[in-house]
Amino acid sequence: MKYLGLEDKVVLVTGGNRGIGAAIVNLLCQLGAQVAYTYRKDANAETTALGILADVTDPAAMAEVASKVEHKLGPIYGVVANAGITRDNLFPKLGIDDWDAVIETNLKGIYNTLKPIIPKMYERREGSVVCVSSISGERGNLGQVNYAASKAGAIGLIKSLALEAARYGVRANAVAPGFIETDMTQAIPEKIKEKIVAEIPLRRFGKPQEIAWPVAYLLSPIASSYITGAVLKVNGAHHT
Ligand code: NAP
Repeated sequence: MKYLGLEDKVVLVTGGNRGIGAAIVNLLCQLGAQVAYTYRKDANAETTALGILADVTDPAAMAEVASKVEHKLGPIYGVVANAGITRDNLFPKLGIDDWDAVIETNLKGIYNTLKPIIPKMYERREGSVVCVSSISGERGNLGQVNYAASKAGAIGLIKSLALEAARYGVRANAVAPGFIETDMTQAIPEKIKEKIVAEIPLRRFGKPQEIAWPVAYLLSPIASSYITGAVLKVNGAHHT
């Protein structure tokens, strides 16, 4: 399957050990990319991609990730800022720790990931950044004031970066998944899941691979070369 122009391109995926990130790592490997990914505890046993232990909330660790990837695989062409968490609660019960943890991981984590990499992309005049945002960042969601703020922030970051990076031939886009079958959504009680599914015109949650393909498309120097600053909705028409 070598037709997206990602063959031998070096791509870093954060949080690539499970869920959506693991699906992205696996697909990019199938497409011939040289893939590195970060994990915090358990590596992705199903891939031969380069796994690096690192937490996106640690700027020094993320700087080290960038230099390790360059050293072992070569100049980084693509970055997928995927790592993310939820700490849901209704606003009156939402503690400052839950606010901080989500913003630190989901928003500052993107900054920490990109900071050591973007200047080098500018120098090489080549690169593609894809950030995994969320439907919650587009339209808000009950119990997700912190998460929605972080994901809306990610969209603002990507749109601004796209404007700055265009003159260097570097692109920046986001995907905004709806509800996807991963550990993150597993905790939703069955009754609420049924209600959500009833609101989704495609009548089901998405699968991690259904996010991986749009990410690969946005990374591709062939398929999406004129797309930058975009937010691609991947949500079964849940939010149009
Ligand atoms: P998941 O199964 O819970 O996986 C989350 C991933 O992020 C894991 O690899 C996790 O690593 C990593 N991660 C979390 N905090 C990290 C940190 N501080 N440093 C490094 N890695 C960290 O969730 P998912 O559903 O695949 O979510 C992936 C992305 O999609 C997230 O940004 C999420 O917000 C977004 N998203 C998900 C959905 C959905 O319905 N599932 C919808 C819209 C957007 P560990 O294994 O070490 O914890």
